[in-house]
Parts: sequence; structure tokens; C-alpha cells
Amino acid sequence: MIRYISSLILLFISLSVIGQSESHTKTLLLMGSRFELTAISPDQNKASAAIEAGIAEIKRIEKLISSWDSKSQTSLVNKNAGIKPVVVDQELFNLIRRSLKISKLTRGAFDISYASVDKIWRFNGEMTELPDSSKVAASVAKINYQNIILNPEKRSIFLAKEGMKIGFGAIGKGYAANKALDIMSKMDLKGALVNASGDLISWGKDEGGKDWKIGIINPKQKEKVFSWLNINETALVTSGNYERFVIINGQRYSHIIDPRTGYPVRGLSSVSIICPNAELADALATSVFVLGKDKGLDLINRLKGIECLLITDKQELFTSDNLHLDYIQKPITNHKYQIKIGNEHAQKK
Ligand code: AMP
Ligand code: MG
Repeated sequence: MIRYISSLILLFISLSVIGQSESHTKTLLLMGSRFELTAISPDQNKASAAIEAGIAEIKRIEKLISSWDSKSQTSLVNKNAGIKPVVVDQELFNLIRRSLKISKLTRGAFDISYASVDKIWRFNGEMTELPDSSKVAASVAKINYQNIILNPEKRSIFLAKEGMKIGFGAIGKGYAANKALDIMSKMDLKGALVNASGDLISWGKDEGGKDWKIGIINPKQKEKVFSWLNINETALVTSGNYERFVIINGQRYSHIIDPRTGYPVRGLSSVSIICPNAELADALATSVFVLGKDKGLDLINRLKGIECLLITDKQELFTSDNLHLDYIQKPITNHKYQIKIGNEHAQKK
């Protein structure tokens, strides 16, 4: 289904029901991002214990996969690029193996070795001019997932080229959200939701005992829900060019890098993936962003049980073939938080 809507900005809204609150939420900064963990239970202690268990799990994962933390196993792998293989935990080994599968599936659009351009592109406001093209070319020569050598017997990772670097910015939050939700779902709750800066995954029922739902609204008619998406026990993950970017000479450069060129990708302003697994959704959202509208939609249409909704730079909305958004007239009453697609971070109401 393809639909054109002029100057549309989408808002995702999660509803909460009025009445006795069984919903307990904690918001905090983890993995450099704003995480929100929600537990549904009449028992405050149970809910708090589940939320703390989820947080502990995310912190544990962050220690393992962070490329900023110089003591992490990931940093050790990076330090030994071109020098020697590094033995890592099975968990990190498996995450890298799954990352390489996505690289193969996307023919290199997704590539955790994109990170060798990390030093060239700074999306924190420091950059005022474009990097030197020869520097970009030198870095891009180090990007190639095929040079990430896995040895399953030894459980080792070897980055074959000197100066290579891996980073999990495009998959780590989804992985952490999966794992945190998994732990929370075993703690006798009615439901749970983990929201990692707009990467959502839910389990069980919402506060009103209903399936978790996300409303998509047209900001020009904020009182109207454009469409409801049932996200029960599903992940909904968004990659956007609105979160981290720089503007140089009036041009917006996003933090998602085309591994073939070393330059930020253009063409799309946001990509949302809906599927049961937040890690896969996270990796695919970034992949579709790199692949662009046509190739991206083609890929998602070939994958069973995975749907996609994207917005181009020109504010056109496109969806994968099996995602049907039908306009529904329904007033929005008690929404708890919004995730703005198009120009802002997730924000709590
Ligand atoms: P996401 O918000 O999930 O799309 O992830 C974006 C982040 O992934 C960026 O900030 C980078 O850390 C990293 N990244 C950028 N380009 C790529 C790419 N082509 N493949 C894998 N990771 C990337
Ligand atoms: Mg991603």
C-alpha cells in the first residue's frame, strides 16, 4: 500500500486508561539514551522489582557491548584490529554473528564496522564543515563486515584490518530492550513495556487489561487518531534523522552512514519497523534507512511477519504491503506519552 499525505508528521501515542493505576514506570538514561520501563501490576513492590531487574539487565549489556567504555570487550576487539583475535563472551559473539547475518541480508547496508567513520562525523554539534573527502575515503576503506572474522571454536573475533572498529549503535538498544522485557515478563506481572528512546517492545496487557496499542495521529488534526496499530507482544522501532544530526550549509546530515560511501544517508526522514523482535526491528530500521524507500520496502515485503512504515524527506508516507492504515475517527483522550516521528525525540506528555 502506498499513500501520499502532504506535510504529515506522525505521532505515535500510547494510551493509558483512567482508573486505578496499575501502571508503574521508571525513566532513566541508559546506553546514552532515554529508557522508560513500565510494569503493570496491582502490587507496587512486584512492579518495582521487575523494573529494577530490567534496568540491571540493560546495564549489564551496556558494559559488554559499549564501544565508548574502554574496558568493554567490544573496545578490546577494536583495540586489537589488525593485530590479533580476541576471545569474547558467547553473548557478544552471538550478537556479532547475528549482526553479520543482517549485513548479508541487506548486502552490507547494515554494517557494524561503519564505526571506523565515528571520528570523522560528529553529530554532537561540534562539526561546522564537511569532513575532508580524502579522510572519508580512507575511513570507508576500513568498513567491511566481511573483514570481521569469527572463530566459533575459540569464540574469538578478529577485525582483519588495522583501524577497523565495530559499534552496536544500530542494534544494541533493541537487543537490550528484548532482554530486559524477557526478564520482566517472568516476574508475575500483567504486562510490561520497554521504550528505549522510541524503540518499543511490549508484553502482556496494558493498564486497562487490553492489548497494547499505538495510535498514529495526524498533527494537523491532533484530536483524531489516524490509525491504530496493535503492538501487542510486538516491537515497534524507529530510526530517524531527527535525533542526531548536524546541519552544514543548510543541509541536514543524519547519523546513519552509508557503508559504501562513508557519508550520511539521504532521502528518508524516518523508518519504523514492526515485528516481534526488537533487536531485529532495530537492525532493520537502520538498514531500510540506508537502502532507501524502494529497496527498503522490497526487502521488508520479502520478509514474513515484518512490516514497515516510512516517511521520506518530502513527508510522503509509505508502508509495506501488509500494513494497512485506515483512517479512523476517534478522539484521543488519555495518552501517556508521545513519540514524534519527523522532528523530535520521544517525549513524555
Ligand atoms: P538507529 O537509531 O538504530 O538507526 O542507529 C543509528 C546508529 O547506528 C548510529 O548513530 C550509529 O551509531 C550506527 N550506524 C550508523 N550507520 C550504520 C550502518 N550503516 N550500519 C550499522 N550501524 C550504523
Ligand atoms: Mg537500528
